[in-house]
This record gives sequence, structure tokens and C-alpha cells, in this order.
Amino acid sequence: MFGRRYCLGWVTSPAATELEMIVLDWLAKLLNLPEQFMSKGNGGGVIQGSASEAVLVVLIAARDKVLRSVGKNALEKLVVYSSDQTHSALQKACQIAGIHPENCRVLKTDSATNYALRPELLQEAVSRDLEAGLIPFFLCANVGTTSSTAVDPLAALGKIANRNEMWFHVDAAYAGSACICPEYRQYIDGVETADSFNMNAHKWFLTNFDCSLLWVKDQDSLTLALSTNPEFLKNKASQANLVVDYKDWQIPLGRRFRSLKLWMVLRLYGSETLKSYIRNHIKLAKEFEQLVSQDPNFEIVTPRIFSLVCFRLVPVKNEEKKCNNQNRELLDAVNSSGKLFISHTALSGKIVLRCAIGAPLTEEKHVKEAWKVIQEEASYLLHK
Ligand SMILES: *Cc1c(COP(=O)(O)O)cnc(C)c1O
Repeated sequence: MFGRRYCLGWVTSPAATELEMIVLDWLAKLLNLPEQFMSKGNGGGVIQGSASEAVLVVLIAARDKVLRSVGKNALEKLVVYSSDQTHSALQKACQIAGIHPENCRVLKTDSATNYALRPELLQEAVSRDLEAGLIPFFLCANVGTTSSTAVDPLAALGKIANRNEMWFHVDAAYAGSACICPEYRQYIDGVETADSFNMNAHKWFLTNFDCSLLWVKDQDSLTLALSTNPEFLKNKASQANLVVDYKDWQIPLGRRFRSLKLWMVLRLYGSETLKSYIRNHIKLAKEFEQLVSQDPNFEIVTPRIFSLVCFRLVPVKNEEKKCNNQNRELLDAVNSSGKLFISHTALSGKIVLRCAIGAPLTEEKHVKEAWKVIQEEASYLLHK
């Protein structure tokens, strides 16, 4: 089925490539992504190893696209925009792509918008940069930030990006999976204004690492930036344009048959089971959220949207610093119990504890037990 060339590992077999296109089209449909992201026209999906690779390849595509029109010497004028909640993968991509460190605009967010990027701030920054003779060229927005699952307003941000001919990338690495449910699809409303969209099937979609799904509207931008054509790779299928050469959509040459496991997940569970899988996690997270909010020693820090609950011990008499230390101690105590693992972040200077529901075997009883452990450790801490 996969042919000798696949065995040699240097050219993806047409069968594997075709399955990847098909499976990504299926998933695009499940997410109700606009037609332009499907493989019919000039768009399409590709499986990357990680969200970090996904943002890197689109940043490079965007960089080369703008440099083709304004001239190669403009590299140091190119400006990238994102919120301060954006994953550090973007910063790394900028470092690799040669974006001037001073040209990375990290726009402030706060609790007033639940840490979502404010379009007015983006507009102000873009205008300021244009006035200074710089070239705004890339915006990365988030649906489900890593710290607190904040959702940036895609439609309003996309309008600004489109008007200024910037590449608009949407990072929905974690929360993208939830958007297959009609009641959560609203969180990617506005994705039609984006140039690229990314979701990690390996986070919350029952697919083993690695499997990061990237869709683009304009595959030519990617391939113009990433294609090479050495003699040793020349083959009839590529030269006759019979196959999609995914090597030109990614950094490595060789690639694994990752669409197979995603195909298995989709075929084995089916879309309805996948939706109830997501809904169940969100329901469990809601239950955890309720338990937390009933305890006067704790507070919910940002409203829960998906299956992540951000909470903390409340400060006594406005002693924020002491409160941060207490939350750090609680985190260590809970995690060293060996019974559960929670992580933390900082929001507006507050140390926040994060309980994420997302493991296939998690049930209601585990959530209740987890909360019991947290309460016990907290009570010990507060009374010692
Ligand atoms: C997890 C995550 C990433 C990083 O994902 P990798 O696949 O490990 O590179 C980036 N952005 C968001 C929003 C994430 O949740």
C-alpha cells in the first residue's frame, strides 16, 4: 500500500499524503472552518509535530510573503503582534525567523477582559508602528490561552489584520478540540478572517503525541517559503504535480504517517462520541468549579470557559504577597501527595492554581477526591 518510496522514508507515499488531506478536510468540516481552509482550492491542512512548529512555519510564510512585496532588506522593519498571554512558542518562532526582538509587540491584557486581547490596543500599536515607518505583518491570536484559556475576539482582531494586510494566525492548540461541539463553535467565530488556524489533536482529542493540525488558506505562501528541489528528491509524481509535497509545508523532510492515528480516532469514536468526550470533561470541570466556589477559603480567579479551572486560596486582609506564598505551598503540598497533579500560573501578579480535566480515564469520583486532597492540604496550611 505504501510503496517502496515510503519505506525509504524520504518521500511520503501518495496514499499517506492523500489520507492526511482527507482527514484534515474532515476535521475542518467538523470545526465548521471556512471552505478556504479545505484542500479543494489553494488551502488545506497539514499535520505538524507541535503548535510551536505550526506558528513557526506560518510566521516564515508570512515573512517571506511580505518581503517579496516590499523587498528583502525590510526584514528589520517587520512587526509581530500578540497578547501577553500568547504562548512562548511565538517568541521562539520570532527568534528563529529573524524578527527584530524590538519589533515584537506584546500587548497587555488584564482581568477586565478576562485576559483577552483588546482590539483597540492592537489598532493603536499598529497605527503607531505605521507612523514610525515600520511594517506590521503578523498577528497571533489565541482561542484558549495556556494560562487561563482566554479567548481573543477573532472577528474584531481579524478586521484590523485584514485591513493592514497582516497574516492572521489563530492558536487554538488546546481549546480547538472543544469547537467541534456546536455550543462551543462560537469561540472561533471570526476564524474566516484568519490566514491560518492551529489545534493540537494530541492535547484533547484522544490522539497520541505528536499531532498538531494546521490549516492555511494560501498553501502557496507556505511552499514558496519552504520548498526546495534537490536532485535526489526528484520524482515523477512530484514533477507531474500528482501529489502534495508536504515536505514543503514543514521544516523536516521526512515525516511519519500521523494521519493514520487521527483517521483511527475519527473512525473509531465518530464525531458524536468525540463531542460527548469533550462535554464530559467540561462538565467535570464545572463540578470542580462549583466545589471551589462553595469554599470560602478559595476563589475562582477567571471564569471557566472550557475544562480548565483557575482558582486560589483567597488572601487574608489584602496580604497578596503572603497569599502567593501560601498558594505556592499548597501547590507543592498537593503535588507531592502523589495523588493528583495540578499546575500554576501568574495572572496580574497573583499566583493561580490550575486544575485541567482532560485525561481519558478521569471520572467524577476522581474530581471529588482531588478536591478533597486540596481542601485537606489547605486546611493544614491555614491552621499551622
Ligand atoms: C500547548 C500550547 C502550545 C504549545 O504546544 P506544542 O505543541 O507543545 O508546541 C501553544 N499554544 C497554546 C495555546 C497551547 O495551549
